[in-house]
Parts: sequence; structure tokens; C-alpha cells
Amino acid sequence: MATGIVKYFSGITCPACSGRETEKMSFDACALFYDCPGCGMRLKPKPGDCCVFCSYGSVKSPLVQAAGDRIG
Ligand SMILES: [Zn+2]
Repeated sequence: MATGIVKYFSGITCPACSGRETEKMSFDACALFYDCPGCGMRLKPKPGDCCVFCSYGSVKSPLVQAAGDRIG
């Protein structure tokens, strides 16, 4: 029945250096901070977003995906 595929890897694009890293997400923990390995900048979620993956990632957090956010 549930055919939705939850993605656990998200490519985070740093707004400071445009560096992109693929990070693994955990289902039950939102990432509130992310330190860019390229420039060291600490990313924080934008207002209204639950985690840095929602703000800067190519894929939103698993929690958001599970909440009914349809992809494709
Ligand atoms: Zn950076």
C-alpha cells in the first residue's frame, strides 16, 4: 500500500561556499546544525524549516517526507 520511498541521503549545498556534500539523514533526528566541511560555516534551518536538510538539502528530511510531502 505505502509505496513511498523515503530517501535517507540529502545533498546539502552550502550557501557560503556553494560546496555540496551528501549527508545521511536519520529518521528520528532532525539536523538542527550542520558544519560545512568546506568552509566551516555552521548552517542553521531557515525560519519555518525543521532542519538543515529542509533548508539546504536536495531532499527534505525523512520526517517531512513521511508527513506526506510528495516527490515526483
Ligand atoms: Zn561552505
